[in-house]
Amino acid sequence: MAGALVLLGDDLRADDSPALAAAAEGAQVVAPLYVLEKGRVRGAALWWLGKALEDLERALAEKGGRLFVMQGGQLACAKSAMASLGTRAVYLNAGVDAARDAALIAALKAEGAEVHYFPQSLRDESILAREGGGYRVFTAYHKAAAKLEVRQPRGATPPFESPAQLPRTVPVAEVAAHLEKGWTGRLASYWEPTAAGLAAQIALLPEILPHYAEERDWPFRVTTSRLSPYLRFGQIDPARLVRIVAALPEGEGRETFLRELNWREFARHCLAHHPDLPYEPLDKAFRAFPWRDDPAALKAWKKGRTGVPIVDAGMRQLWKTGWMHNRVRMICASYLVKDLLIDWRLGAEWFMETLVDADEASNALNWQWVAGSGPDAAPYFRVFNPLLQARKFDPDGYYVRKFVRELAFLPAEWVHTPEKAPVDVLADAELPPGTYPEPLVDHRKARERALKGLAGMREKVREVAR
Ligand SMILES: Cc1cc2nc3c(=O)[nH]c(=O)nc-3n(C[C@H](O)[C@H](O)[C@H](O)COP(=O)(O)OP(=O)(O)OC[C@H]3O[C@@H](n4cnc5c(N)ncnc54)[C@H](O)[C@@H]3O)c2cc1C
Repeated sequence: MAGALVLLGDDLRADDSPALAAAAEGAQVVAPLYVLEKGRVRGAALWWLGKALEDLERALAEKGGRLFVMQGGQLACAKSAMASLGTRAVYLNAGVDAARDAALIAALKAEGAEVHYFPQSLRDESILAREGGGYRVFTAYHKAAAKLEVRQPRGATPPFESPAQLPRTVPVAEVAAHLEKGWTGRLASYWEPTAAGLAAQIALLPEILPHYAEERDWPFRVTTSRLSPYLRFGQIDPARLVRIVAALPEGEGRETFLRELNWREFARHCLAHHPDLPYEPLDKAFRAFPWRDDPAALKAWKKGRTGVPIVDAGMRQLWKTGWMHNRVRMICASYLVKDLLIDWRLGAEWFMETLVDADEASNALNWQWVAGSGPDAAPYFRVFNPLLQARKFDPDGYYVRKFVRELAFLPAEWVHTPEKAPVDVLADAELPPGTYPEPLVDHRKARERALKGLAGMREKVREVAR
């Protein structure tokens, strides 16, 4: 009896899966296996993962198959499943990290596996810069990508059978219940990590996209798709999403949205060419940057108690809902890195713990972009002014009031600068002194300190080069 093992990863869907479809077409018995590796997915994303696995189990059952979950190392679990199935055939779709995939494939082959590996990038051809390496500038990457056709999604997976049991597996419901423990339980009131939840978000695209180009920077209304966690866990093939979007009426909003999907692709491209992107500044000069060690300020940032309302609203939205609006992610990240002068890696870690869409590639690329050390990064000396950002993108303070409840009754004039509000305004807004923190730093002085840090870093680099 020909069996096949399908190693699931960032592709938790029953259809549009080249690996699953090829296994179902080629083998009599198919075992889709998800290996829960310690530390790989964490916090809020782990909660999402449990729900997505439960939903996938239902979808695979409709095809006649079963989902298996094991805990441990991927290779050891795959070996045990192969032995139990009596097969050498292993199918997998590419995950977010090409280097991790390559290491796993090499190890599987060394164990005698026949590996069938399917890329998941939007285009079949790999996109390479003229010198043959990776692109560092998004617009050049985007231009090169636009010349290539978006790949065809694989379509429906045919019905298949699975073995009744595999040793060492744990029931999916048990895993999901376990992952729901603790603070992440509340995320259920904001998200539905299922195919039904995905369909509901997709149904909003015709309303969102016509205004997306002008409104996507507004955090106070739903102006973006909120598809990021579904994309993160591969509950939708990005190539399918592009087709859905391409069928909507043409317009600037649609083009801008497709460009954002290409940013996601670019992040994967950068991680493939720089596997240490999540840990190492791409611009090596930043190794010499004089980051400050300030655990109290880091804690205030994480808790949304910096005294800067737009930053605090973002950090509280993140903690409460597992997601933060993109513009506010930029503001909060910039505040940590430039106003507080705290190492971007500590911020990126916190995001990986608290975002439902926590993604090694997108998170690393965007943090390095903000820090000024990454591919296509904003130059370090360009420092976001959080107050100007707040006044531009949340002019009436609706977003701030929604997440910083103490400021709920402050009028728009003072909502972004409560520290400057007159005493009678504070009294009318039921905000006794001391309820909301004073700003941790003065932005003007912090900006000067950040620029000094940059100059110091450059000097150090010059010294080393001398
Ligand atoms: C500091 C920082 C950290 C981030 N960390 C993550 C992360 O861990 N995971 C993640 O998916 N996104 C991350 N982003 C990118 C972006 O904020 C989110 O993808 C976006 O807010 C998700 O909301 P949406 O689905 O409504 O986006 P939409 O505006 O509807 O965009 C559609 C899709 O395009 C992709 N996309 C949009 N903007 C970006 C971008 N700047 N970079 C990469 N892909 C993008 C996402 O997959 C998104 O779902 C980060 C951004 C910043 C500034």
